[in-house]
This record gives sequence, structure tokens and C-alpha cells, in this order.
Amino acid sequence: MAHTVFIRHTYIYKCGETACREEWKINEASDLDKLRCPHCGNYDSVRYVDEDQRTKYNRKGMGL
Ligand SMILES: [Zn+2]
Repeated sequence: MAHTVFIRHTYIYKCGETACREEWKINEASDLDKLRCPHCGNYDSVRYVDEDQRTKYNRKGMGL
């Protein structure tokens, strides 16, 4: 049986609690407005960051 390939988006969440600031990953989006941090249990709203991290990295690599 052949191998299969697919792209899976991983969403990285970062806790907003100052004392925690831990990160965790979730595969595919959950359309939740609020999430609970698995590290400290802080239950808070989600803010999406629209910045493309790859663009930033490539620019740095080209020395601009
Ligand atoms: Zn936390």
C-alpha cells in the first residue's frame, strides 16, 4: 500500500497568563473563542496573530 502525504496545519497557542506563558499545539483549528491552558488551567479568549512567520524568517536570511 502506497504512502500518503498531506499537509496538516498546526496551531500554536501561547498562554496569556504572565506566570505561565507556556505554549501548546492543536492540529487543525478549533473555532473556540476561549481555550483552557493545559499547563496552568487559565481559561481565556484567543487572539489570532496574522503575521506570517516564514516571511519574517526569509527576510532575515537574505540580510535585508
Ligand atoms: Zn498557562
